[in-house]
Amino acid sequence: MKLQEHHARRLLGAQGLPVPPFRLATSADEVADATAEFLSEGVERVVIKAQVLVGGRGKAGGVRLAGTLAEAREAGAAILALTIKGIPVRRVLVAPAARIERELYLSAVIDRTARRILLIASAEGGIEIEEVAASRPEAMLRVHAHPHLGLLDFQARRIAMGLGLPRDLQRGFVRIAKGLVATMLAYDCDLVEINPLAVVEVPSPEGNRLELQCLDAKVTIDDSALPRQPDVEALRDLDEEDRTDRAAREDGINYIRLEGTIGCIVNGAGLAMTTMDLIKRAGGEPANFLDIGGGARADRVEAALRLILADPAVEAVLVNIFGGITRGDEVAHGLIAARQAQVRDVPMVVRIVGTNADEAHAILADANFITAESLDEAAVRAVAAARQPAPAR
Ligand code: GDP
Ligand code: MN
Repeated sequence: MKLQEHHARRLLGAQGLPVPPFRLATSADEVADATAEFLSEGVERVVIKAQVLVGGRGKAGGVRLAGTLAEAREAGAAILALTIKGIPVRRVLVAPAARIERELYLSAVIDRTARRILLIASAEGGIEIEEVAASRPEAMLRVHAHPHLGLLDFQARRIAMGLGLPRDLQRGFVRIAKGLVATMLAYDCDLVEINPLAVVEVPSPEGNRLELQCLDAKVTIDDSALPRQPDVEALRDLDEEDRTDRAAREDGINYIRLEGTIGCIVNGAGLAMTTMDLIKRAGGEPANFLDIGGGARADRVEAALRLILADPAVEAVLVNIFGGITRGDEVAHGLIAARQAQVRDVPMVVRIVGTNADEAHAILADANFITAESLDEAAVRAVAAARQPAPAR
């Protein structure tokens, strides 16, 4: 589950990380009110940021600076009128604008192979970090936290030196890096990413001083841990959660979208994985992992088909149902009804095993489904069907 930036900032702040104060606004008037309050506290400029669960807000015009009430109102109205990567902006964050000297990148992720938390840092933070990671992986510094002792001071200090931070910022960096690891553990995160972690110029009586501040925060929580993170679960943004993910969750279907072209409807997680393997072996790519759960309830089959066909990349569907005592002919009628209820159609290959499987295959063949006896055969037929030119709709 992804958190909105403002929620992520609160979690980081609670772990002692340096996160600037902010206010939320849902209208240009509220942006102006928040700005007035910051200006009255001696802030020179504010930053106004779209709160949507996608990256690249800066490039999309969703991050703007303002120095007066009028500018803030105008920028707020403009951002609140944006749709960023398909998501309408409903809320903005208003914060004192930092005077940025340098933008660094710092994140913590779970390295499943090493079974440790991995800290990744780069001196070249900011909005082009994906490009840096792809073209010059050596510009990304990495270190694993110790499984019991966590991130050790010397490890964090070494990264700080690698980033070229001056001595007086290194201590702050160590605290932030350890705070990231603490946040990972406290909330069962998959990812905590600060980009930019900025070297910021802060006015002080003895002249300007440099310090590190977290100016953006992206946090995702391990979905499997949500039952023990009720406070975090309560932050879920239903408006914005990926529509497909939400529909699947509400229908009790275990669905993970992948990059391929062959949709899979299977009952049982193990069978679903086997089905994916066989599609790959037949030279195709699965479009999803999908487990409709035990039995083969008609309503779930229909919901699953709807989810799969909503993905425009899907060119064929493979249905592999292990009926057991569920009657195959009933499953077949359910599939026919489910297919008729859809707005688009693709070739469908079905393999049903269990009671009345032969009747099921006969019924389906009459209804223009491709049937298969074995899973291997089903996979081969699905891959072939996906390669055919799309049928007229
Ligand atoms: P993202 O594009 O969705 O990752 O949004 P960010 O919050 O990271 O903002 C994008 C860029 O806007 C940053 O890399 C900064 O260059 C700039 N930015 C964000 N906050 C501030 C701020 O407080 N002051 C200044 N001067 N620039 C900012
Ligand atoms: Mn960012």
